[in-house]
Amino acid sequence: MKEIITRFAPSPTGYIHIGNVRSAIYPYLAARQTDGKFILRIEDTDQARYVEGATELIMETLRWLGLEWDEGPEVGGENGPYFQTERKDIYQDWAKKLIFKGRAYADPTDPETIQKYRDEDNAKKIPYLYRNHRPKEADLSPAGIISLWQKGAPIRFKADPKPRSWHDEVMGDLSAGPEVQDDIILIKKDGLPTYNFAHIVDDFLMNVNMVARGVEYLPSTPNYLALYEAFDIERPLLVSLPHILAPTGNKKLGKRDGAKSVTEYRAGGILPEAMLNYLACLGWNDGTEQEIYSKSELLEKFSISRIQNSGARFDETKLLWMNGQWIRKLVTEQGIDEFFPRTLGFWPKSADAYEDDYKKRVLAIIYDRLKTLSDLREMTDYFFSDPKILPEMILENKFLKKAGLSESDLEALLETSLSDLETLDDSSWTEENLKTVLNSLLEKTGRKPAELFSLIRIAVSFAPFSPALDLTLSVLGRETTLARLRAAKSSLLLDGE
Ligand code: GLU
Repeated sequence: MKEIITRFAPSPTGYIHIGNVRSAIYPYLAARQTDGKFILRIEDTDQARYVEGATELIMETLRWLGLEWDEGPEVGGENGPYFQTERKDIYQDWAKKLIFKGRAYADPTDPETIQKYRDEDNAKKIPYLYRNHRPKEADLSPAGIISLWQKGAPIRFKADPKPRSWHDEVMGDLSAGPEVQDDIILIKKDGLPTYNFAHIVDDFLMNVNMVARGVEYLPSTPNYLALYEAFDIERPLLVSLPHILAPTGNKKLGKRDGAKSVTEYRAGGILPEAMLNYLACLGWNDGTEQEIYSKSELLEKFSISRIQNSGARFDETKLLWMNGQWIRKLVTEQGIDEFFPRTLGFWPKSADAYEDDYKKRVLAIIYDRLKTLSDLREMTDYFFSDPKILPEMILENKFLKKAGLSESDLEALLETSLSDLETLDDSSWTEENLKTVLNSLLEKTGRKPAELFSLIRIAVSFAPFSPALDLTLSVLGRETTLARLRAAKSSLLLDGE
């Protein structure tokens, strides 16, 4: 396969939308599959939307996901600079080329007049096209145009409207009529290029032969084709990525639809492997039922031709499910010791006072219940701090209520459990021995596991669910378990008084 040279060209606006990242994943995979190049270019010409620190955030996110770039900021490359604001002279030179070809002009029309044209066309119910209002200055000589430009007029393209057809790698064979081609702005008043112009020049100079971007750029494609033609340059392969849709309704996923930015998902304990997997499969599949893909499997199986051409619905529940799968997969493959560092920062505050070894033991019995790493905060609190024993928690438990156990029955059950568990000393406080004692307690008391074990579980963990009781007690240790059972018992006693 031909080497794919492609790019990810985000604008540094500070918010990394799920869709932005997906637009990085597909070109990355296509480039790596063909030993091509993946370029990072920062499209920072829209000064009004620029956010300080946004570029760093983009780079950090790409690195987190394992999408390393071959050319771009911090990496360098032969076709830099990779920030568009540092390429101002290049765009101006290229605008001049069009001026000398008679395909661009400086437009002195003021904004009020432009608005008037728009209003008039609207009133006449005819499509507003700037080329119908092209000023007479469009016919000046190149020297005249350049002098007008030097006085601060923006540069516009001189459209060549005609029917155009092209192939999009995802959307198929497309065509558009002259009515969508116009005298678009190439260089703004501030001397910086528009996206429409800058990306054409950059992609060409950076040898990009495949452009993958959101489908929202499709309506402008006829104008881009006109620019390639005016420059007499070959266009890259065009890949329009379908919208990511909101979980409900048929609209594009926006900030308000509950989808967090990639940064927030990361902070919320989503693993990069899961994010990569989820986003890659949002609008692409390999034709099988497979759902879990590692990066190397994606590299093996991904193909542009299997990107779907309709919108893909964002489903956070699925992302969380996938993250849970990845936690299990990685712990199983790597073992607790290797996985543990990823959990740092996600433990409850109370865990700070504990050794890593203890946390690893907790992780080993809880990891298969986690959906995100931040679940650790709530799900493990009782391993690090004593629960407050509220008798209601025991008295209101549905299993215990159903069994019709009175307060004194419960107290007696706790007493029996305590005295049997006390027979184990520190060195025999093992999972295996605990299992034996707990099972013999069932026999001795004639209670169902849902009753006796719920009681003990609530007393030691204050949580309605926990890993298997023998595991929970073995990690909690003898001293803590017994102290908590005693505290539960006396809280029932106090309550009964
Ligand atoms: N800067 C554009 C954006 O952030 C990039 C579009 C493209 O990839 O060409 O949407």
